[in-house]
Amino acid sequence: MHALPEFTLRRPTTAAEAAALLDSEPKARLVAGGTDLLPNLRRGLEHPAMLIDLSGLRDFAAVTAGADGGLTLGAGLTLSALADDPAIAARLPALADAARAAAGPGHRSAATLGGNLCQDTRCVFYNQSEWWRAANSYCLKRGGTTCHVAPQGERCHAAFSGDLAPVLLVVGAQVELQSARATRWLPLAQLYRDDGAAHLTLAPGELLIRVRIPAPARGLVCGYRKARVREAMDFPLAAVAVALVLQQGRIVTLNIALSGTNAHPLLLAGTQALAGEAIDANLLARVAKLVQQQVSPMRSTVTPSNYRRQVASALTQRLLRELGGG
Ligand SMILES: Cc1cc2nc3c(=O)[nH]c(=O)nc-3n(C[C@H](O)[C@H](O)[C@H](O)COP(=O)(O)OP(=O)(O)OC[C@H]3O[C@@H](n4cnc5c(N)ncnc54)[C@H](O)[C@@H]3O)c2cc1C
Ligand code: SF4
Repeated sequence: MHALPEFTLRRPTTAAEAAALLDSEPKARLVAGGTDLLPNLRRGLEHPAMLIDLSGLRDFAAVTAGADGGLTLGAGLTLSALADDPAIAARLPALADAARAAAGPGHRSAATLGGNLCQDTRCVFYNQSEWWRAANSYCLKRGGTTCHVAPQGERCHAAFSGDLAPVLLVVGAQVELQSARATRWLPLAQLYRDDGAAHLTLAPGELLIRVRIPAPARGLVCGYRKARVREAMDFPLAAVAVALVLQQGRIVTLNIALSGTNAHPLLLAGTQALAGEAIDANLLARVAKLVQQQVSPMRSTVTPSNYRRQVASALTQRLLRELGGG
């Protein structure tokens, strides 16, 4: 780790002011809790001319419980506040579980919801010091021409490893983005693309200001499970969220999302076709096959790719069986 590089620090008090600053300085970076960005700066991965500190924004950490059963969460909500909030615990406890599973207690007291959703992708060839990366001629994600994980390919496979996105994806959350010119709502799934070097679809000058979680469907149950190398504090080697509605033992809706396995949080395709089925061994085998086909863990972490694939599939089966009451 190096000392932080020189930069100008600005502390806006409104989201509009933050968006205007971002618009005025293309080389500016947003910083919320700093638990993802600051280690990256200290590794020399980025050299922003300006940091825009979001921690002083008014009403940026509000939790609003709607009369319809939905929730709106400010992007500045810390993971520890999110884990302890009574409205979240009552309406979407799986999100509180996911927040509690992220990083360590010190990180969670500073880390934010917005920073968690917008965190950088990770790779053993990228989260390294400048001299280490230079000795390896850098890589496609920053400064080089080859991906060391897939040298024949032309894209980066660094893994998205955030804990909150899977739960928010399975319940159909939307995010509100603000720029100097406009605000817009976007389904969370559309915030991401399958490219580890540019995994966010945020337009230049946009910041994420709110997350809206719709009222749950009648009978919806939702859970989150994470596997990691160090239980006390670690990114997921694979993690899964499941949202399920059953009626008389048959699936009405089933959504599954995974983290740690792809360059973006993966909302599993093909689960709609399982409506009407019971959660039995045959169904669990079909779900396992969907997971195995769609996850693409690469050699971007210290855990072997095929192991992560197997863990993703086993975690999904276990969680689905538990939620289904089996
Ligand atoms: C040792 C360690 C362990 C960790 N373990 C985990 C883990 O288990 N699970 C996990 O999910 N994460 C983990 N993290 C990563 C990080 O702590 C979390 O992702 C955290 O939630 C990031 O939030 P932050 O507010 O600190 O983000 P920051 O570091 O402030 O920002 C992260 C990125 O998001 C951008 N950003 C921040 N806020 C916004 C916004 N409102 N709109 C647009 N862009 C924004 C920043 O520009 C930056 O690019 C770990 C980090 C460390 C150092
Ligand atoms: S997956 Fe390839 S391009 Fe991406 S960070 Fe790793 S080595 Fe670099």
